[in-house]
Amino acid sequence: MRRYQDTLETLAGQGRMRACHNLDTGLREGVVNFSSNDYLGLSQDERLKEAAIEAIQRYGTGSGASRLISGTRNPVVALEESLADFKRTEAALVFNTGYQANLSVLQAVLSPGDRVFCDRLNHASLVDGAQLSGARWTRYRHLDLEDLEKRLKKAPADTLKWIITDSVFSMDGDFGDLSALCDVAERYGAAVMVDEAHATGIYGEHRSSGLCEAQDVSGRVALQMGTFSKALGGFGAYVAGSETLIRYLVNRARGFIYSTALPPAVIGAAHAAIELVRNDLAPKARLWKNVRCFETCLQRAGLLQSPLQSPIVPVLIGDEAETMRISAQLSEAGYFVQGIRPPTVPSGTARLRITLTAAHTPAQMDGLAATLERLVDPSKQVR
Ligand SMILES: *Cc1c(COP(=O)(O)O)cnc(C)c1O
Repeated sequence: MRRYQDTLETLAGQGRMRACHNLDTGLREGVVNFSSNDYLGLSQDERLKEAAIEAIQRYGTGSGASRLISGTRNPVVALEESLADFKRTEAALVFNTGYQANLSVLQAVLSPGDRVFCDRLNHASLVDGAQLSGARWTRYRHLDLEDLEKRLKKAPADTLKWIITDSVFSMDGDFGDLSALCDVAERYGAAVMVDEAHATGIYGEHRSSGLCEAQDVSGRVALQMGTFSKALGGFGAYVAGSETLIRYLVNRARGFIYSTALPPAVIGAAHAAIELVRNDLAPKARLWKNVRCFETCLQRAGLLQSPLQSPIVPVLIGDEAETMRISAQLSEAGYFVQGIRPPTVPSGTARLRITLTAAHTPAQMDGLAATLERLVDPSKQVR
């Protein structure tokens, strides 16, 4: 017990102690949440709630076992068919969480002796999965395809290679050129896996299925992973790809095999969310209108460094204590903006992470930008 106590004391000494804040008791009434990934506000949508309730009434609250034992029922089969159509792949498989999907998939498709190439800023679940797989692991500079290519060149031609990347990066809100990434991958015979956690539901002109759709690479990416937990307003995750890969995952992905299937309510809400983002474009239009509006607000406040590529807006502060101080001051002023510190982000890049949703109003966004202008010294920002 001493060791755990010591670790906590070290974290406290470094100003890196983390704790969960109870939004219902910890924040004053009326504080505006700028830290949610519920981009389209779907977690509160009546149509999703109804689908979840209907699924409970019909199938109950639990799934009973893992899918291979007794957990497969019509709704999840229908959801997977719908997902494959949504992502324009042959097949899809539902996982319990995005974290579990990434761990399980990478552990399944990679073995010691294989090579895995990861963007340096990939989500922790991809990092953990790559490490767990035992494959030789290389991190290339963020979105730097030249650096990626240099590393691919060094790998023996006959080894199995996977390139793994977030589509929209969770802490930076930026993204790269997936088509150019696929060009590089194809030159070296590498397979590509894209994590669409922050893109599903908000990118793509026809189906809003993510950045692979928007950049027209669905047919060139071996696996598209994504979650129901962000813009889709629910919980859980999926992986979409070829019939062969999905059948392989059913047989080899430990997080799929050894974990109880998601409950009916979650599956019901997920299916309703897929249908909703494909057919009701209004929430998405409101979200993007808000992104452009906040861009203008930031520009007025002298804080805009480059055009916003997503609803994720990092305000880089650098110093960890300063970041948390500003986060607390914002909270006082009525805006909940979480400070993000290492090891979630690289050392020296602590930041305020603002996320915009379809539900924010121009007055709220203007107010936040004006408060940031007052609290953040632009000269101190890390660029
Ligand atoms: C949130 C997130 C995950 C994890 O998904 P959960 O369903 O929350 O476990 C995976 N990858 C990325 C890029 C994410 O942002």
